[in-house]
Amino acid sequence: MTSSIIVLGAGMVGTCTALHLQQRGLDVVLVDRRAPGQETSFGNAGLIQREAVEPYAFPHEPGFLLNAALGRGAEVNWHARGLWQMAGSLWRYFNHSRPQPHARATEAYSRLIAHATDEHAVLMTAAGAHDLVKQEGFRLVFRTPRALDEALQRASALHDRFGVLYHAENSTQLAQAEPALQLPLAGAVHWLDPWAVHDPGALVQRYADLFVARGGRFLTGDATSLQSQGAGWSVQTSEGRVEAEQAVLALGPWADALIRTLGYRFPLFVKRGYHQHYRSAAQLRQPLLDAERGYVLAPMQRGLRLTTGAEFAPIDAPPTPVQLVKAEALARELLDLGEPLPEPPWLGARPCTADMLPVMGPAPHHKGLWFNFGHAHQGFTLGPVAGRLLAEMVHGEPSRVDARPYLPQRFM
Ligand SMILES: Cc1cc2nc3c(=O)[nH]c(=O)nc-3n(C[C@H](O)[C@H](O)[C@H](O)COP(=O)(O)OP(=O)(O)OC[C@H]3O[C@@H](n4cnc5c(N)ncnc54)[C@H](O)[C@@H]3O)c2cc1C
Repeated sequence: MTSSIIVLGAGMVGTCTALHLQQRGLDVVLVDRRAPGQETSFGNAGLIQREAVEPYAFPHEPGFLLNAALGRGAEVNWHARGLWQMAGSLWRYFNHSRPQPHARATEAYSRLIAHATDEHAVLMTAAGAHDLVKQEGFRLVFRTPRALDEALQRASALHDRFGVLYHAENSTQLAQAEPALQLPLAGAVHWLDPWAVHDPGALVQRYADLFVARGGRFLTGDATSLQSQGAGWSVQTSEGRVEAEQAVLALGPWADALIRTLGYRFPLFVKRGYHQHYRSAAQLRQPLLDAERGYVLAPMQRGLRLTTGAEFAPIDAPPTPVQLVKAEALARELLDLGEPLPEPPWLGARPCTADMLPVMGPAPHHKGLWFNFGHAHQGFTLGPVAGRLLAEMVHGEPSRVDARPYLPQRFM
């Protein structure tokens, strides 16, 4: 079987890349070992984070670092093997998170994030998926007045510089907005631009259905069977070997293992995260981040979803959901969480880069091979704009967003 381009990985990023390539007239085959949207893009908090103009930096505060090192709190967990394996990338991440390099990364990132909701809106309309989304923002809630004040100053600065919208809520306004909260809190920053999806995996599946309805082919196959073949690429699928002139790697947290076999050593690492659903009697209206404790509660189709912060561990290490246990206890202080659904905790991995910017563009040493991965904390948000940017590069069009900060070449 032949096509003009193979997209490997049908998460949010790969599926949107396939749609945008198809829109430019290419014959696209989308390949995954599972159904579309069953991995990282399935288990996240479902936020389309238009407000996330700054990439997620490595916190430098001594108190945070001490707590993380001692395994206190719910925000961070680590495996010694994970820290050892990722030490080089984490050190670079730490350095890139200093104010100056972080400000440079923010310059680029904010230009990408600016298109997040607009690009999703186009695909949602075409896919008939608006029923999966609420466009009412989400909240950072604060337990102490000092942390609230600091967050409000930061929100005001981001509003002035990037135009992102928010409401400042005091304790009473927050209690009125979210009557299910049983603990008096100091207040909230209610970001107004983000959208909340109550079944993230279903949104990817709808986008994949749109791709198929428009004539695209989705096939089950293993990306590790990728081979250069003549002037192009081929991969083994359930329907035999597929050959194409070009291929895109959109394997999220699994990209690193594959590009290593091709000789690339990029500073990539993962931040693992867990989720659990609860049959909560108390209904939240919008998702919230318990900002001083580091976990998210998001109303989902299956119940209230609690997602955890970062676990530095190898992607394939056995689950150690200690953060989930701690976050559940903290969430029970806020509201009547109810019983967890009788299912094992979900475990996923945010695909991160040391400089906090995704890797999008041509593979430096392989003709016809393209990379689209490393979208870290906001891959669900960025999928459509990332797919568009990559398709523009493949097609040789001027890109809507300056692609230079994302080119893989920067790590060579
Ligand atoms: C707890 C948590 C909460 C998060 N919350 C948010 C949020 O609220 N908003 C947000 O924007 N982002 C969030 N993220 C980040 C976001 O989920 C990821 O950045 C995003 O899902 C990455 O998408 P992707 O398509 O690159 O990767 P994936 O969705 O993981 O897709 C990669 C695909 O590659 C396939 N694959 C892998 N190996 C092979 C192989 N050998 N052969 C064939 N196929 C293969 C997989 O099956 C998978 O379908 C969160 C992440 C976590 C862990």
